[in-house]
Amino acid sequence: MAGLLANKTCVVTGGSRGIGRAVVELFAREGGYVYYLSRSPAEDAEAMIAAAAQAGGAIEHKVCDVGEEAEVDAAIEHIIKARGGIDVLVNNAGITRDGLVFRMSLEDWEAVMKTNLTSAFLVSRATARNMIKRRSGSIINVSSVVGIMGNGGQTNYSASKAGLIGFTKSLAREVASRGVRVNALAPGFIDTSMTEKISDEMKEKLKVGIPLGRTGGPEDVASAALFLASDMAAYITGEVLKIDGGMGM
Ligand code: NAP
Repeated sequence: MAGLLANKTCVVTGGSRGIGRAVVELFAREGGYVYYLSRSPAEDAEAMIAAAAQAGGAIEHKVCDVGEEAEVDAAIEHIIKARGGIDVLVNNAGITRDGLVFRMSLEDWEAVMKTNLTSAFLVSRATARNMIKRRSGSIINVSSVVGIMGNGGQTNYSASKAGLIGFTKSLAREVASRGVRVNALAPGFIDTSMTEKISDEMKEKLKVGIPLGRTGGPEDVASAALFLASDMAAYITGEVLKIDGGMGM
């Protein structure tokens, strides 16, 4: 099977919908054997798996709350045993619990940190040992432009995404000599279930601040993830790539 990820074992957290799903589907079309970890499978999981098989790749779902250490360790151990190793990891799972800081509960702060930032630590820790041993691997952390620019009403979310950037650069330095690359993606406004609650009026206002004049689609992020996952990015590590139509420049 030809393709940029032919015979590569890939793990994507939160691949049941939105950006993660687009990554899962694209990686499978490029010949990857892709596991996605989420609390529930995609709504049309069977059709998604069948389409991947037809395209020459493979998709499997594993139930996993990526904020829970025991669940993460069990899922990654299972995948390594089944496939012999992991070549690509995309830490994509994420949530929002927006609110002004003086009204934000500790629970909302901690829930966002756990799902968005602690999860990347847990899944990377479970995976990196195997990548180091095999002297190869690519880890991609899905951050956000608000982790760079900040955003009122999203102190918890933007702190978690800024944290992911520090995590990316530090881990990149730790594992570079062992042939493992670590990069981050910083999407801008992408149309998914995470952003569908935003009113049309607010979206029109937001578009004014996007030089390319449109919001992004999950596939815009997936193609950047494919580039960083593949050998085309063999000399790139510790990088933060914005996919935001120019919003954050
Ligand atoms: P989405 O449509 O809401 O999808 C979120 C995914 O994360 C789902 O597959 C969900 O699956 C999974 N997830 C959530 N909590 C989880 C947990 N505890 N354990 C395992 N999986 C979990 O969101 P999206 O817009 O695609 O966002 C994907 C990533 O991109 C997030 O990190 C987000 O912060 C980032 N991002 C998004 C935008 C945007 O504009 N959409 C912009 C910048 C960055 P289950 O619910 O089944 O677990």
